[in-house]
Amino acid sequence: MSFASAPSVGPRHGEQSPMLSVVLPIFNEEAIIPELLRRLNSGLVDVVPAYEVIFVNDGSRDRSLELLSTAARKDPHLKIINFSRNFGHQVAITAGIDYSSGEAVVVMDADLQDPPEAISSLVEKWREGFDVVYAVRSERAGESAFKRVTAALFYRLLKRLTQIEIPADVGDFRLMSRRAVEAFKSLRERHRFVRGMVSWVGFRQTAVFYQREARYAGSTKYPLRKMMSFAMDGIASFSFAPLHLATYLGLGAAGMSFFYLVYALWIRLFTDQAVTGWTSLMVAILFVGGVQLITLGIIGEYIGRIYDEIKQRPLYIVADTVGFDPVVMGASVERERP
Ligand code: UDP
Ligand code: MG
Repeated sequence: MSFASAPSVGPRHGEQSPMLSVVLPIFNEEAIIPELLRRLNSGLVDVVPAYEVIFVNDGSRDRSLELLSTAARKDPHLKIINFSRNFGHQVAITAGIDYSSGEAVVVMDADLQDPPEAISSLVEKWREGFDVVYAVRSERAGESAFKRVTAALFYRLLKRLTQIEIPADVGDFRLMSRRAVEAFKSLRERHRFVRGMVSWVGFRQTAVFYQREARYAGSTKYPLRKMMSFAMDGIASFSFAPLHLATYLGLGAAGMSFFYLVYALWIRLFTDQAVTGWTSLMVAILFVGGVQLITLGIIGEYIGRIYDEIKQRPLYIVADTVGFDPVVMGASVERERP
């Protein structure tokens, strides 16, 4: 089986298909896991009769996998997808969604910034007939002013640059119906901006509001560098505006140089001041050079993305899984851990 397309996964033999799947990406979250398991349990048992919780271990280098494996041995609701290395948050979410079998799938961060207790309000909207239910942050506790301001600016920029509606202040905490999940699974692009892609699939979408809590423990796994490339993916996956910008910059520079040409001819033909003007010459050269480099850089961003798509690599490599049926999973996935 190739992972270039999403694996099709069913419930285990003889097992009733779960109504709800909850997907949690895990990257070095050992400090959170015990509390996470406790809160998930209390947030889920009374909400739906049958559920599965899928942890995607995104190459954690701490004891996360060990803690999860121990818990999964005791609780059949818990399943684990263990990546061969760190593939990033957005890819981890994708893998969890690929492997899910619930009638509805909830994606949430593992650090308890998205409270498991809010799942019930997502499920309620889904039962009303919505296919995608966003959890919108009405408040962001425990995040730096820098993160808040840059996030606000980014969402507003994204809204202006892209044709599709990506609601402001929406993270990846959301519920998707099975048909929205199947549609999402058909999008196999490499540079993934999941919240935009979910918006792109359409269907009936709505929002519920929740208070974003502070991270329960540990530190953010999104340093500025990752945030920047995430923002670039968001814009480049959904907008050609930067390429248009390159065109406009080129047109602007060309327009200005035309006026300067007229001016230079005027000086040459009607005055005797020719040859002076070293400064203006330098300014013009530097300006045009700068515009060309920016333009090349923008084009390069898109060419890099085209190259990544052309390679057709799988989105992720799974080392092993816990709790999934190996027969249904297909031959390329290793057997379950004992
Ligand atoms: N995460 C991941 N892989 C990464 C980075 C983060 O799976 O390379 C997970 C992380 O464990 C958490 C979620 O993605 O469950 C969101 O990360 P974090 O809370 O650090 O981001 P922030 O809330 O600070 O934006
Ligand atoms: Mg967080």
